[in-house]
Formats: sequence, C-alpha cells, structure tokens
Amino acid sequence: MAKIFALLHTQADGSFPKASLETLAAAVNLNTQLGGTLTVGVLGLNAAAAADAVAGCGAAAFLAVGDQAVSQPRYATDAAAATALIQAAGAELVVAPNTSRFARCLPGAAHRVGAQIDTHIVALCGEGGAVHAQRWFYRQRILGSFSRPARPWLLLVDGGVNPAWQGAAGAANARPVAVAFTAEEQRTTVKGVQAPAADAQTIRPDAALLFVAGAGWTKKQKDGQAHIGEAGVLIQAFLRNAKASLGSSKSLVDIRSEGQDTLNFMSHMNQVGQTGSTPRHPKGLSTCCHGEEPHVVGWRFINERRAVNLDPNCGWAQGKADVVYVADAFEVLNKVTAMLTAVP
Ligand SMILES: Cc1cc2nc3c(=O)[nH]c(=O)nc-3n(C[C@H](O)[C@H](O)[C@H](O)COP(=O)(O)OP(=O)(O)OC[C@H]3O[C@@H](n4cnc5c(N)ncnc54)[C@H](O)[C@@H]3O)c2cc1C
Repeated sequence: MAKIFALLHTQADGSFPKASLETLAAAVNLNTQLGGTLTVGVLGLNAAAAADAVAGCGAAAFLAVGDQAVSQPRYATDAAAATALIQAAGAELVVAPNTSRFARCLPGAAHRVGAQIDTHIVALCGEGGAVHAQRWFYRQRILGSFSRPARPWLLLVDGGVNPAWQGAAGAANARPVAVAFTAEEQRTTVKGVQAPAADAQTIRPDAALLFVAGAGWTKKQKDGQAHIGEAGVLIQAFLRNAKASLGSSKSLVDIRSEGQDTLNFMSHMNQVGQTGSTPRHPKGLSTCCHGEEPHVVGWRFINERRAVNLDPNCGWAQGKADVVYVADAFEVLNKVTAMLTAVP
C-alpha cells in the first residue's frame, strides 16, 4: 500500500498558506486513487495547531515540527526538519507545495533521504498502483507526463492548479518529531522584511484579471506627442478599480533600463513571456502591446484573452486573442474606468 506523505509548512501568522492547502487536496486525491495511507507532516510556527485545522482530511497520522528554530524560513533548519519528518513518516511519495520556502530546502532534504525530486508539478494521478506526474518543459511549450520507480519520490506541486482543501477542523493530535538543531544551523537569522506597500504591489497572483501594458503606452500618439504621465494615471486607476494584476511586455520594461521616460511603477518582475513569467489568471486584457510570439507564450495559462490595439493586423488578431478591439487604449481605459467607478 502506497505511503503518501503531504509535507506542508505554515506561514508567518502560524496558519497554512493557500499553496499548502492546495497541495493537501492533491495528496488526498492521490491517496484515494492509489488506495494508500496518508500521513500529514507540518513544519513551521504553530505546526501542531495548524494540523488541527486540517484534521478532517482523512490522514492516518499527523506529524509536526513546530520548534522555535523553524518559526522562520531558513535553509539549514528547514532541511533538517523536512528530513526528520520524511524519515519519521517512512514516506514513499512526498507531496509538498512548490513555495519559495520548500523549493529552497527540499532538494537538500531529498539528497539526505536518498530520494528523487521533481518540481513544478501541475497534475498528479494514481492509476493501477503507478503514479503519473505532469509538468511543463521548454518555457511552457511542451507538457510532459512521466513516472519514476524511485522511492522516496518528492513532488513539488505548483500553486494555482489544485483547489484549496476544505473540510472540518478537529483534534489531529500531531506527534511532535524531535530534531536536534545545532547552533551552526541557526546562525542565519531573518532581521526584517522589506516589502512594497500593499497598494504599490502590482503583481497579484490571485486576481481574476491580468492587465498587460505594452510599449505603445509610451509611443507618440495621434497628436504627435507621448502621454506617459496620463498613461500611468489611467493604468493605475484601472488596476485599483478592477483589482487586476499588472503584466508588461519586454519592450515596455526595457525602456526603463535604457533610461528613457516610462511608467515608473513597473519592473522586469512584471514581464510576461518567454523570458518573463507565465502567470495564471481566468482572464487577460492586453493593451498597446503587439502580441508577438515570445510575449504571447507567457499567456499559456490565461483562459480568456482580449486585446486593445490600434493595428487591426497586430499579433493578437492572428488567432492569439479571443476578442480584439481595434481602438485607442487611452480612450478605452478612460471609459472603462469611468464605468468601474460608477458601480456602487
Ligand atoms: C529570445 C526572445 C525572448 C523574448 N522574450 C520576451 C518576453 O518574455 N516578453 C515580451 O513581452 N517580449 C519578449 N520578447 C520581445 C518580443 O518579441 C517583442 O519585441 C515585444 O513583446 C514587443 O513589445 P510590445 O508589443 O509592447 O511593443 P511594440 O511591438 O512596440 O508594440 C506596441 C503596440 O502598441 C500599439 N499601440 C500604440 N499606441 C496605441 C494606442 N493608443 N492604443 C492601442 N494600441 C496602441 C501599436 O499598434 C503596437 O502594436 C522576446 C524576444 C526574443 C527575441
């Protein structure tokens, strides 16, 4: 009988991040398909209390490492705790969230327990006792399905592809797993967190809409002038009202590094495409962006695509968008934002 281990971590307030609950849903599903035994392991601040929140998931046992040493993410202590949890569970298949915390420490833990590890898993399926995993290759162009005979096998599940687990809380009676953390492992300390103010944060992975701005916003318009200041005000008002996430084409963010006048609230972090990111949102709206292939490949996981472009022959009109509005994006955004602000 397959021994499945859902290895989860808590976040700064001691609760589970969404990615942990999504991973738990994937592990519960896999366990049902394989008819195995499920164990849940929790690492981080308030680990035992967090286990209580998922007590109804059907796990046969719960394990926890909630020592002060793992209250903050740190490679050395996280790798030691994850190793101890995997060993205590006698895990064969370890399913864990592909968060930055685990992406950093689990390859080391896998090496220590003699396991193999795969990252960015987007689907898991158990059939006839075999486990099949899927992940994208070559910048999201090829979807691969594969299996491994090696055990333990660690699988890091991407966020946003499974629904978050929901169910009854209860008494999980998580068994504390003892880890002898050394002073050397605790040398690195987190002194503080530098993060942009909440309203300055333009990348919102949970937003229903991805709004993408292209270099056209900075180009000379029909009056022969560029209107970068107006573009910035319009885009930020739209983002605020639509609660959208902000993406960019490469050309637009490159303008900044070339020292030209451009939109100062975006950086290469916003870039979508082959050399940028591949965000997941139900809808996407592209504005003043031509829709070239190296950019559009980053739209792989955007379900419904619309674009606003002055050019009826732009890339979006070549089968890359569901709807193309051949229109001036300044005018469109002015009207849409007025409509959004009129909604009570
Ligand atoms: C190896 C490689 C990797 C790359 N990786 C990426 C990547 O990751 N991401 C990426 O984005 N690009 C990438 N590129 C670059 C990509 O090929 C394009 O050059 C880039 O995406 C073009 O950006 P753009 O559409 O914003 O600008 P432009 O091509 O300059 O298009 C601007 C558009 O704005 C429109 N426009 C102007 N004014 C208005 C208005 N008032 N209303 C409506 N529309 C208007 C114009 O009609 C035009 O279509 C890559 C290229 C290579 C070779």
